[in-house]
Amino acid sequence: MRLILLGAPGAGKGTVAKRLTAIDGSVQISTGDILRAAVKEGTELGKQAEAAMKAGDLVSDDLIMGIMGERLLQDDCKAGFLLDGFPRTIPQAEALKVLLAKLGIQLQAAVNLDVPKEVILDRLTTRRTCMDCGAIYNVKSSPTKVEGVCDKCGGKVVQRDDETEEAISNRLDVYNQKTAPLADFYRKEGLLLDVNSTSSDTVVTAIQAHIGA
Ligand code: ADP
Ligand code: ZN
Repeated sequence: MRLILLGAPGAGKGTVAKRLTAIDGSVQISTGDILRAAVKEGTELGKQAEAAMKAGDLVSDDLIMGIMGERLLQDDCKAGFLLDGFPRTIPQAEALKVLLAKLGIQLQAAVNLDVPKEVILDRLTTRRTCMDCGAIYNVKSSPTKVEGVCDKCGGKVVQRDDETEEAISNRLDVYNQKTAPLADFYRKEGLLLDVNSTSSDTVVTAIQAHIGA
């Protein structure tokens, strides 16, 4: 599959991407995961991204395009890719379009996960993330077997430091201003698939039906 997953923070992009990778071996490319790993390792990229991330602001388009320009060239993308958290601004979408045209790659769809705001807020405040493998848990609906320990890799599972109430509210504002307009962008490109569901099963089925997978 070659898909973009659009949707607010907490809409379920990461969960749906992980489900889709299991179907056909496409890779999930999450710019958030790449940036969090860089911050954790203390690389130059991490240092440049850290402050914006902590505040719930976007990292610069140049930084993101630098990462994605390299990432999409890697061999594993040949099996297909699920872009999770990218593009997030119109300039990123324009740059991606140029990049994919250059590589001769055609997207199948930009899937817009449309989830009510109350659900988003509830999910983000109860979400927990493994700092080692990126696995996502929820203290209410899908807790780890042992508190604070990842079921999959044994890593540390914590509340992200951009999941304070203040940073969450800022991330949602940033989403509405900068990222929500991408739905129109991809509608005009003839690529938009709107899915209104809080169930990842339903979302996955709708995507498979749409692309004929
Ligand atoms: P979310 O749960 O909000 O979808 P992500 O894990 O995708 O979170 O991203 C976390 C943070 O990383 C964002 O708030 C932002 O600071 C930064 N980031 C991730 N992807 C991008 C991007 N495509 N453009 C700019 N900043 C990004
Ligand atoms: Zn883990």
